[in-house]
Amino acid sequence: MTDRWLLIENGTVIDGDANPPVPDCSVLVRNARIVKVGTVDRENDIPRGAQVEVIDARGKTVMPGLIDIHCHMTYGLARTEEEISVYTPPELRTLIAAANVEKVLAAGVTSISQPGGSYFIGVGLREGIKRGLVHGPRMTSAGRYLTTSNGLTDWFPDATGNPESSIGKLTNTADEMKVEIRRQAKAGVDLIKLADSPYGDFQAFTDDELKMCADLAHQLGLKITIHARGDGEMNAAVNAGFDHIMHGNYMSDATIENLATSQIPLAPTQLFMHHIVEFAEISRNRASIVEATKRMNDATQETLHRAYAAGVKFAMGTDSGFATVPYGEWHARELEMLMHYTGMSSLEAIQAGTKNGANAMGLPDDLGVLAEGKLADIIVVNGDPVADIRVLYTPGKVETVVLNGEVQTFPENIRQRFLRNDYLPHEYGWEVLSYERALEGAPQPKTQLDWTSEQRLDVVNDVRKQEKVGALAVAGTVANLNGDGPAAE
Ligand SMILES: [Zn+2]
Repeated sequence: MTDRWLLIENGTVIDGDANPPVPDCSVLVRNARIVKVGTVDRENDIPRGAQVEVIDARGKTVMPGLIDIHCHMTYGLARTEEEISVYTPPELRTLIAAANVEKVLAAGVTSISQPGGSYFIGVGLREGIKRGLVHGPRMTSAGRYLTTSNGLTDWFPDATGNPESSIGKLTNTADEMKVEIRRQAKAGVDLIKLADSPYGDFQAFTDDELKMCADLAHQLGLKITIHARGDGEMNAAVNAGFDHIMHGNYMSDATIENLATSQIPLAPTQLFMHHIVEFAEISRNRASIVEATKRMNDATQETLHRAYAAGVKFAMGTDSGFATVPYGEWHARELEMLMHYTGMSSLEAIQAGTKNGANAMGLPDDLGVLAEGKLADIIVVNGDPVADIRVLYTPGKVETVVLNGEVQTFPENIRQRFLRNDYLPHEYGWEVLSYERALEGAPQPKTQLDWTSEQRLDVVNDVRKQEKVGALAVAGTVANLNGDGPAAE
């Protein structure tokens, strides 16, 4: 096979390793790898007669493709937990995910990791991409989240049980955890995902269970990650040797110190939480959820500033897949969130969104940095993300996406693609038809039967519990979460 050459000329190169941008810099790619970064001499660096594709990047930025290590392709723009975990059958869900993943790539996200999803759709999607059946980014995937009766993703009442369609797999004993990890390893996952408590106000797994799960995952050649918002599970996950950790909203100084020393990447994944508050009106989020999330975001900002100052390593995760965080729209906004919530610079945020995600892709030495010998996952951006990080998610600004050394092409209308698992709960009508309402158009009477306000009861209960518990495991180091106490400094 003849070599394929790609030359991206005269751009400003950001290497993904937080070094200062280099102007008038060229990048030469042979097949899937970068062979030169700097001044390229076409006569000497490229064999005579070779076919070379040339991109003029004058006035533009050339940087590694983004790595989103928290992207849920099976969620299908979900509005409710039922849409995530119940209604859409796996066959249709897979097809929707396959169409949506192309939009992720088109946004300049050349790698994703799915930390939990329904069935083994993530594994199938990863293989489909690898075999060229599906157009999408590099991908690694977990299976269903391992959880306990007290963890995120055991949403449904015990009377309903833990349906096989759920993103969560209920594992209440160490033996059940082992069985599920072994089963998932056999099915071909890249990583195991654990779901600790929804809001971090208690530990859903014991320290020993986390250690056992991490050891078994590693023994089977898998990575392991965890949804951890509270201090206790954060510290336990670091001690257990997890490969990367999601969230870290509340951490004591001691836990931050432990995390910083470990250099285990933390993906705060604040985009989803931030959108709940910022766009509450558009997305019609219920007031109690918005209020509780705002308090959590404020506490998170305090925690993550301390974490950044202590030298914690950050990575980019977005929780894309919810209706409020649709695929291919906002991924790079997590870099803006990292700047806002930790105080880091734009160059450091870009490093978090490129180099620091490479390990979660199983390619720590090959990916995320624009340098000789690395895999050629590259984007060309019409703008300067160092001056304004928002260009990375402004429509149309990511002009060229290169994956494995190949310039990608997309359907012209891909930005209009919003495919969803639109199976709402079985409905019988949403309004209570009193005599007056039905016949005279009077205002709706107050009633206990308003199902719309009850359908996400389990989520709301957790928020309420959160409100009651107030300051979490690190009382005294973060703001009083009841919102009526003084903010901690
Ligand atoms: Zn998530």
